[in-house]
Amino acid sequence: MNPAPLSDEQLLRYSRHILLDEFGIEAQDKLRSAHALIVGAGGLGTPAALYLAAAGIGRITLADPDVVDLTNLQRQILYRARDIGNPKAASAMKALTELNPEVTVVALERRLGGTELDALVSQAQVVLECSDNFATRHAVNRACVAHAVPLVSGAAIRFDGQISVFDLRDSDAPCYHCLFPETGEAEEVNCATLGIFAPLTGVIGALQAGEAIKCVTQIGRTLSGRLLLIDGLTTQWQTVALTRDAHCPVCAHRA
Ligand SMILES: [Zn+2]
Repeated sequence: MNPAPLSDEQLLRYSRHILLDEFGIEAQDKLRSAHALIVGAGGLGTPAALYLAAAGIGRITLADPDVVDLTNLQRQILYRARDIGNPKAASAMKALTELNPEVTVVALERRLGGTELDALVSQAQVVLECSDNFATRHAVNRACVAHAVPLVSGAAIRFDGQISVFDLRDSDAPCYHCLFPETGEAEEVNCATLGIFAPLTGVIGALQAGEAIKCVTQIGRTLSGRLLLIDGLTTQWQTVALTRDAHCPVCAHRA
């Protein structure tokens, strides 16, 4: 996809990654060829996008229907006071391009769904789910199952954070629905009513970027098959093993 070798400037910009034995030029080159879809440019999506852009991913598609609000600035670190009232997706694109002009950023100022979501997922190497509602999470999961695209799912509310990877390239991996069945009774919780500890969104978002980079470069071991739970109030982390639900209505048909 990128036949040209990394330029001298790129070798310098990414030298601290290239120095890592497990990373090297090979992983940096894979990252440069990768396209990440980030659904939601809020508390999780903004730190995730910052790290993906800084690290040199080739392309980011970032979707969010909202405009920047004063209450967002407590944690949504891509935005500045001057962005209040402007669309999040466009503001984020500007900030990411200033950070790393080599990254192609596509801003979509709308809620994704239906055939558009399906097409975008099919074109991505990894999807980061950073939205704030179950309907979007399940729609993104269904598209990732359909196209066997790895899904990095994060959530944070009050002092509680969680993250997992549903690597749907692997036929044994569970999907989001295996873990959180869509019952229609799920209570929507959001930061506007319950609050959110600002740095926790940075922790989860940065972890999502790290897992996405590992998915596309195939280094190390991701959280596939594991759910990481973080208590930001006591700083305790625990990992829970996940298994695929053989009767999951979303993914049971997979080979
Ligand atoms: Zn499933």
